Amino acid sequence: MDKEREEQVISLCQKLVQQKSYSGEESGVVSVLSENMKQMGFDEVTVDKYGNIIGCIKGKRPGKKILFDGHIDTVPVTEETEWTYPPFAAEIHDGKIYGRGTSDMKGAVAAMTCAASSYAKDTDKDFAGEIYVAGVVHEECFEGVAAREISKNVRPDYVVIGEASELNLKIGQRGRAEIVVETFGKPCHSANPEKGINAVYKMAKVIEVIRTLTPTHHPVLGDGILELTDIKSAPYPGASVVPEYCRATYDRRLLVGETKESVLAPINELLEKLMAEDPQLKVKASYALGKEKCHTGNEIEGERFFPGWLYDKDDEFVQDVYKKLQEKGFTPEITQYNFCTNGSHYAGEAGIKTFGLGPSKENLAHTLNEYVELDQLTKVTECYYGVMEALLK
Ligand SMILES: [Zn+2]
Repeated sequence: MDKEREEQVISLCQKLVQQKSYSGEESGVVSVLSENMKQMGFDEVTVDKYGNIIGCIKGKRPGKKILFDGHIDTVPVTEETEWTYPPFAAEIHDGKIYGRGTSDMKGAVAAMTCAASSYAKDTDKDFAGEIYVAGVVHEECFEGVAAREISKNVRPDYVVIGEASELNLKIGQRGRAEIVVETFGKPCHSANPEKGINAVYKMAKVIEVIRTLTPTHHPVLGDGILELTDIKSAPYPGASVVPEYCRATYDRRLLVGETKESVLAPINELLEKLMAEDPQLKVKASYALGKEKCHTGNEIEGERFFPGWLYDKDDEFVQDVYKKLQEKGFTPEITQYNFCTNGSHYAGEAGIKTFGLGPSKENLAHTLNEYVELDQLTKVTECYYGVMEALLK
């Protein structure tokens, strides 16, 4: 990659990081990306109802559609004064750009945009197919929900997720669900507790029994972990009142093939049994419902159930990309992500051929002093260029 193109991707990454964009507040970064895409030769730039931005470059010949997906929201900065460099300045020190969202994942979004533009210029658009670069909103709280709108509009044949992979190829991930368990009691004065039903005591028993469940297992993805993450009772604070309600949330990691029904079935079976033993017990399990406001003013909502997915190393599209990257001097490993991504929708729900490829280390996401190395940023731009060469034929 020549100097001018290196500078282009570095500068775009900086501009994106300088736009603070917590989930639901991505309008600034959308404007900057839109302006840059138009200047860089994209044929079409649109923003959908959730506020996702999609830039498109069409080849002169018909062919497959590749969608490059990068979320443009970030997690918040909580302790701004503890950052060595200001989190929204995108300063460069020792070959790294520092700032919130550099690694997760505005660096990748900048690289996708620049790679698509360069590929179109170098080929004079004489290629088969269409390239889409999507800056996706609301990923940090809702993996794959805003992405549903994108795949509905674009209908891609391939999706590249740009989440950090240190330039390795990721062909799967565990999914994630949030399960809510609720017990319903009967309030009374705590001086006479026998007159009520304490929902927290009921929950204590339920939690103990849920803990005895054996997790599901997948030979590659590991365990379908079910872990209690929070608990809440009502009324709170309970000033001399026996609580009438208790709610516990579980994080469940999902394996390939697990469905909304199959995940709740063993839990419900246990709860039914407990209720049969204790006529006073009223308990219910369901998926948490998320509802958030988008920067467009619209609402986005859905159940927190994001499926797992996994492709085979030997699948043709994986091998085509793998060989092309090797040809270009890279040495990717083919593995899986350890966290949940928009791939939950594209691969897990929509069955679209998907893989992950991004700059930087995944453990830099959400951290103090988050950064992306300039070397990773320019290299991943070359990798994305290679993906286009491999798949648009
Ligand atoms: Zn991310």
